[in-house]
Order: sequence, then structure tokens, then C-alpha cells
Amino acid sequence: MSRLLLVSNRLPVTVKVEKENVSVVRSAGGLATGLSRPHERSQGTWLGWPGDVSRLSPQQRGQVESQLAAQRCVPLYLSASEVSRYYEGYSNRVLWPLCHYLLDRVPRQDRDWDAYRKVNERFADLIARHYQPGDTVWVHDYQLMLVPGLLRQRLPEARIGYFHHIPFPSSEIFRTLPHRKELLRGLLGADLIGFHTVSYVRHFSGSLTRQLGLDTDIDCVHWQGRQVRVGAFPMGIDAAAFEALAKDPGVLQEVTAIRSRAHGQRILLGIDRLDYTKGIPRRLLAVQRLLEREPAWRSRLRFIQVAVPSRTQVDAYAAYRETVDELVGRINGLYGTVDNVPVHYLYRSVGERQLTGLYRAADVMLVTPVRDGMNLVAKEFCAARPDEDGVLVLSEFAGAAAELREAVVINPYDVEAMADAIEQALEMGEDERRARMRALREQVKTRDVHWWVNAFLERLQSLPAVTARARPESGAEALARMRAAPHLVLLLDYDGTLVGFAPTPEQASPDAELMTLLERLATRPNTSVHVVSGRPRETLEAWFGHLPLGLHAEHGLWTREGPGKSWAMLPGAAFEWKDRARPVLKSFAERVPGSFVEEKTASLAWHYRLVDPEFGALQSRELRLHLYEVFAQEPMDILPGDKVVEVRPRGVHKGRVVTSILEGQPDDSLVVAAGDDRTDEDLFAAVPEGGLTIHVGNKPTRAAYRQEGPVELRRLLAGLLT
Ligand code: UDP
Repeated sequence: MSRLLLVSNRLPVTVKVEKENVSVVRSAGGLATGLSRPHERSQGTWLGWPGDVSRLSPQQRGQVESQLAAQRCVPLYLSASEVSRYYEGYSNRVLWPLCHYLLDRVPRQDRDWDAYRKVNERFADLIARHYQPGDTVWVHDYQLMLVPGLLRQRLPEARIGYFHHIPFPSSEIFRTLPHRKELLRGLLGADLIGFHTVSYVRHFSGSLTRQLGLDTDIDCVHWQGRQVRVGAFPMGIDAAAFEALAKDPGVLQEVTAIRSRAHGQRILLGIDRLDYTKGIPRRLLAVQRLLEREPAWRSRLRFIQVAVPSRTQVDAYAAYRETVDELVGRINGLYGTVDNVPVHYLYRSVGERQLTGLYRAADVMLVTPVRDGMNLVAKEFCAARPDEDGVLVLSEFAGAAAELREAVVINPYDVEAMADAIEQALEMGEDERRARMRALREQVKTRDVHWWVNAFLERLQSLPAVTARARPESGAEALARMRAAPHLVLLLDYDGTLVGFAPTPEQASPDAELMTLLERLATRPNTSVHVVSGRPRETLEAWFGHLPLGLHAEHGLWTREGPGKSWAMLPGAAFEWKDRARPVLKSFAERVPGSFVEEKTASLAWHYRLVDPEFGALQSRELRLHLYEVFAQEPMDILPGDKVVEVRPRGVHKGRVVTSILEGQPDDSLVVAAGDDRTDEDLFAAVPEGGLTIHVGNKPTRAAYRQEGPVELRRLLAGLLT
């Protein structure tokens, strides 16, 4: 097993001070429990913030450090300003509400981004210092979204995983963030990015398509020469521990006590951090509504709501607390009697024994967040019910709802329906309660936190290792080889390689800088330059006809050796297939607004650059499937390009030009080919051994070198002229 470097904002410990002595106590949270075994077994290290230690004396700090080291933890200390800006400011005031769809809670000014980026850099530096080759790095949560990318710059070959513990919102929400692109690029530094649900995976993939223009296969995307995998790994809990506690005699005594204090009333239970995502006010309103419309329940219900104090330094939380306080007071004022109040409200945390006692004593558990990445309370409730009783009312906006289908699922925005659901839960017959709880428990027990850790780590560790050749710095090596060559043959693709993509093909015409670059390259001693493009010959002729370049149009179907020479067609090309392909492409152009068909001598292409990116990608898959069917028995190539699907007879491809170009070239020529898409892979394949191939962009490629985009490739080529 590879050594694990675990990284989270908070270390899984609490520093306790008692007079002169300090002690570092391991936390009991789900993540800490789930990861403790692999952490120990792999002899790994956990890096993170140990909490505020600013009041400790130097001697006490020393004690903390040695105890942390004994627990294989490495502290990253945050200053007061970093806590307030990186943690409370950007993480909790911006990313938290945004990922929970609460846009109006995001501050109008984006002041804390710099602090967020700097602390993420500090984390990356610290990880890099502790990294040893072969380690697996697992970064946790939204406070550290830039860390995978920053780490990739420092450790190009590291195996890096990232898990996002909160929702990933729809791309329509995520796009409002001023730093949306940096955050996405930050995540893409990882080899595996995990979310709780398939919806979050889809949302993330949509953001990659819309914000970064990436072609994703939903769960796999190519980025900087690497494959980045994305997956849904619903986090579980330590179900066995909750089950054992729920059977503990002391806890069972507590259950009896809670029940007897309720004097036969039915118990509704809510347990949440006091957070505005948890939907506590609407839940209270639903209880109020039930009491209002069904007077019979007024003396028969006891709603115990535990609200654990949280993020008390953030203003929005103080305001939320007041709202909850007021609602509790109002309901108790309206429906309480001298000897009974309906809402028992506890603003404090409870120990795990009391917590389990409450779970086991409840008739109905209310988990009604307006958004929640997963919600572990819902799962803990089920694990704590070995009696197979109790009803879970669960919001459809909690990640847990994707798994816990036997819960009574509700929309927390519909207060009236929530009141109905609470009543349905209270009145549910025993058989149904048991059947539902059995199924829920089965799910929670099999997909527990250990399953989650193993599923993620097994996937991460089974991915192929990153190879060195994709490194951006390989450009310098490529240039040195080109400079040292006695003769050079440059085979250059045009679109996506020498120029970036424009909305329509006509708009991507060569600029003055490119014309000068090509002319100077073509007149460089011992250098022969060829443009090998999918464009029609008329276009290449109009743009480059006057330059001393070899021109190769329509993927090598047409060739013109030099200025004044005529265009010659590759022998043996067939055309009759076009009459069958054309209607298919045209029907797609008609039904997908913004797309169009381009007809060339030996190929047909359907372009969709102007189409909504996600819809375009779906339709392009559909079109390809359709064409595979039409030409199932024929040697045709159906090629996905950059926002284009091209059909052409097999055998007409860019690789065909290489042999004729090399005729008459000195034997010591270095052949250099550069291209960006699938059609250029044929060119790369035809480059003789010892040649040099450069992929421009982020796709999977057989090329040995990679450049980020046309700007970088031009800079590399310009290096030949100095
Ligand atoms: N919890 C706690 N102290 C309490 C009450 C609950 O630590 O007084 C725990 C609870 O057992 C659960 C976690 O807090 O494991 C809450 O996790 P959840 O996913 O429900 O919500 P989050 O707080 O992460 O948004």
C-alpha cells in the first residue's frame, strides 16, 4: 500500500489546555474515523490546521508538536488574519453559500480571494516538503480547491485525489464566481475528483465544458496531457460504532428516560449544526402548520431540536440563530400549555451517547436541509435503530436522498407538503415502518465510511501513473533538438495549432504575426515548412499561396508543393458515399440551431462550435452513432474533431503526405509534426522514427511533447529564428 498524505483544512484533533499541560485529542468525526485505519496502516501523514494555538506558550507549543508528531500529524498554523480571510472569509462566506445555491448570501465584494489562494499555496508547499515519490495525496474539501493544481506544478508525477464534501452546484450558479476558472483548474490538478452524488459529477462536468471549453466524457476529461477522472463516492458513516452504541445498556437507559419524560408523546427529532443550509425555520413552520391545522396533535407531540453552535464569527449565522429563536418562541407561545411545550430547543452540542440515545428514542427524524452535500445525521439515525423502527423524513436536496430512497422524501420549500409528510410519518403503520427502516439500514451498513475510503483509494491507486512527457517544460527540450538538427522538415496543422478557434472557420484567418513567422521559418536555412490542414485548398491558396510553403489541403487529399505549382489530388479517392452521408448531416444541422454542414472534395463535416456546449456534445455523439450505422460495412472514418464531426473515406488522412514530402529530403532531416486534434494523430503516426511530435492542447495523444495552445507553439517555433 502506498503511503498516504491526507490533507484537510482541520487536522482530526483538538488541542486541549489544562493549566500548564496541553493534550492533543483525536476527534471522533466520520472522516477522522474512516481515514484513521489507512492513515496508520500506510504509515502516512495528515497535514492541516490544528486550530488556534496562539495563546499557548512556546513550551506548550512544543508539547503540541511532539504529540502531533506521535499521531503522524503535521500542523499548518494559520494566523488570525488567515483564519478570518481564507477560512471564514472566502471558504465560509463565499464558497459555502455558493455551493449551496444561496447566491444572495455571497458578499458583494470578493475581498478574500488573495488570502484563499495564498493559504492554498502554503498547503501545497507543505505537502511538497513532506512528499516522497510513490506517495498518494488525498486532499479534502472546498477550503483547498486550488491545492491539487498548485501541487501538480510542484510534483508533476504525484498521484493526487480530491474529495468535495459539499454540493457542487449547477454550472449556472458556479459561473457567477469571479474566480470560477481558477477554481476549476485547481481541481483539475487531481487525478481523481470525488463527489457525493452523480448530480454533482454532472454539474462539475458542465462547468468544465462551459467555463473551460473542455470536451468531457462526464467522468473523464483530458487536461494538460493527463486524464482526470471524476466519480460519485457517497460518503458513509461508522455504522458499526453507532449500532454498538445504540445497544449499549447505558444508552438504552437514556432512551427510556427520554421516552418517559415525554409522557407518551410522540417524539420528533432534529439534529443539525445551526447553519442556514439546514432548513430549520421551514421545518419549524411545518411543525407549526401541523399543530395549527390538526389540534389533536397539540398535546401529543414533542419536537426536540438540537442546534449545534457553528461559525459564530460569521454574521449570517448570528442572524439565522435569531430567526430560529424567534420561531421556537412563537410556536411555544402559541401552542404551549402550563405543563407542555411542543418545541424543546437545545442550542448546544451533545455527546455521542446522548446523540445516539436521541436517535434511538425518536419516532420521526426530520432531516430537511434546503441543500446539503450528503447529511450524515440521516445515516446515523438509521444505524442507531437496530430495533428497525423510526421514520426518516428526508429532504430531496440532501445528497443522502440519492441513496436513502425508502425515507419519506420531501421538498423543504413546500411547507404544507412537509406538514403532510410529518403527519404521514407519525401515522405510518408498524409493518411499513419496519420495511422501510430495514432497507435503509442495509444501505447505511454496507456503504459505510470504510467502504467509502476504500472505494475512493482503490480507484485512485488503480489509475495509470502520469508520464513525464506531458510536462509543459518539455518544450525547451524539443526546441534544443530542433536547433541542433542539420535539416528541418516542419509539418504544421493550422486550426487549433497555429491559430486559436474562432466562432466560424472564416473568422480564423491568419494574422500578420503568423504570416511573418511562417515566412521567416520557410526562408530559414535548411528548413522546409508544410501546412497540413483539413481546410479546402481554395482557402489555403488564398492565405498562403504566395509563401514558399508546401500546402496540404483536406487532410492530405490535395497537395501543392510550392508557389506557382498546381494542386494535385491523391489518387484513388472515392466520392459516391457523400450522397448517403449528406442527408444525415443536414438533418442534424436542421435540428441543432447554430450548427452547419461544410462540404469539401473528399469529406463532409458537421460543425457545432456555436451550439450550447453540452447540447452540442450530446448531439455530436448521437450523430457519430448514426453514421457508424449508415457506414457499418464500409471503410469510412468518422472523426470527432474540435466542435466538429467529419466523415471521409479511410485512407485519406494527413499521414499520407509524409512519404512524398520526405522524398528528396536529406537523410539527416529531423521531421517535426505539430497538431491539436484526432486527425493530426495520423500525421504523428507517419513521422519516421527519431522525429519529433508535438500535441497542442489537452487531448489524449501519441505525441511525445505537448504545448498548451497556439500561443505557446508559436513561441516555440519563433525560438528557431533567434
Ligand atoms: N454531531 C456532533 N455534535 C453534536 C451533534 C451532532 O458532532 O452535538 C455530528 C453528527 O453526529 C454528524 C455531524 O455532526 O456526524 C453532522 O454531519 P452532517 O453531515 O449531518 O452535517 P454537517 O455538519 O457536516 O453539515
